[in-house]
Amino acid sequence: MTHPLDHLPSAQEVGTYDPETLTHNFSDLHPPLTPRQAMIESQRCLYCFDAPCVEACPSDIDIPSFIRQIGENNINGAAQTILEANILGGSCARVCPTEILCERSCVRNHDAECQPVLIGLLQRHATDHMQFESHPFKRGPTTGHHIAVVGAGPAGLSCAHRLAILGHQVTIFEAEQKPGGLNEYGIARYKMTDDFARKEVAFLLEIGGIDIQYGQRLGDNLDLATLHQRYDSVFLGLGLGASRAMGLTGEDAPGLIPAVDYIKPLRQTDDLGSLAVARRCIVIGAGNTAIDMATQMARLGATEVTLVYRRGVEAMSATDHEQEIAKANGVRMVTWAQPDEILRDEQGLVAGMRFARTAEQAGRLVPTGDTFEIAADAIFKAIGQGFDGASLSDATANELAREGERIQVNAFFRTSLPNVYAGGDCVNPGQDLTVQAVQHGKLAAHAIHQALAAKQEAA
Ligand code: SF4
Repeated sequence: MTHPLDHLPSAQEVGTYDPETLTHNFSDLHPPLTPRQAMIESQRCLYCFDAPCVEACPSDIDIPSFIRQIGENNINGAAQTILEANILGGSCARVCPTEILCERSCVRNHDAECQPVLIGLLQRHATDHMQFESHPFKRGPTTGHHIAVVGAGPAGLSCAHRLAILGHQVTIFEAEQKPGGLNEYGIARYKMTDDFARKEVAFLLEIGGIDIQYGQRLGDNLDLATLHQRYDSVFLGLGLGASRAMGLTGEDAPGLIPAVDYIKPLRQTDDLGSLAVARRCIVIGAGNTAIDMATQMARLGATEVTLVYRRGVEAMSATDHEQEIAKANGVRMVTWAQPDEILRDEQGLVAGMRFARTAEQAGRLVPTGDTFEIAADAIFKAIGQGFDGASLSDATANELAREGERIQVNAFFRTSLPNVYAGGDCVNPGQDLTVQAVQHGKLAAHAIHQALAAKQEAA
């Protein structure tokens, strides 16, 4: 089967950017702090008692402590403080929307102070410059328990590392050929440079006792019944693998693909010039994936990138900061418009889209009756991901209680099946943040540990 974007020219053929500029376009979006800048920035922290920034951190990092350690030039100490709470603190420093989490809550975040303490950049400074002779966490005494973790994304990796600290043996089953989940395959390339996702996982695995089996996909060559039977506990850190459909005729038209299907090879390629580029493209959506897609297409050389969202900017899930990134890259934002019809040329290729203008009436989104068209060579949909139905199709997985389409868990990330836990995007209907997934995995590991210990005591 040919690829739906095979008819498009490559970035090199489009020729907007020479190879050197292309490489530059995908280098670090936010350059790291220099040691001197980090030292000066750390002095801005007031080391608040009951620090609001900690309250706002989904992974409970002791922010004032690590900033104080940076101020004392104790970089390893700062890194250890971060990693104790969040073993993926390096990638979270890069991808966390700090502007709506810790930095928004910082007491210095008001006009008289210019800006909040740059917590994200300080966290990155500590995790980028740590230099441990050996892995800074030790495995606890062996418990003899063996836990299966499904998915080597942030939730699964965090769970596995904590379980290893607690003395358990862990086997991770990963569908892809590399670990990292969205950190490896889904985040914009300019946010995760220099193969950082791979290096971070390599560091995490130094704890020992974690084995990863690749090419193992739940619902395909792996089933929950077998894992449930063979392992003492199972943690499901499943991603959302299926892209939602718009519900229009012709969604399989060449030129129309889910944004995640474009970003994945973009993250993996060694040759940016070889990627297909639409000179004019439309991105449908309002979240970070939509922004990442639109911005990356602009940085690859597209001359007209339009992001279309059915509501107003204030309802977009992408933060203001993300929206600014897109605008700074020349992305045009069109709001209050929803896809109405896919326009195709005589060969059946995508030629654009007709949109219906929308308005809100009594809290409901309704079409106004007006339509307009945007010409485009490609359309990327970033309207959310859902469960790949097959992943929970075996008889045991089918028994899992669901909340909407996601897996229902209690406060300890326990599912309705005994000894089966879940966390990350597959359970959280919230903001689907990496940092939340890390926290779920960590808390689930503690819950698994306590349940196994209680069972052992009772035996
Ligand atoms: Fe430091 Fe701001 Fe957190 Fe206070 S709220 S501890 S000033 S980072």
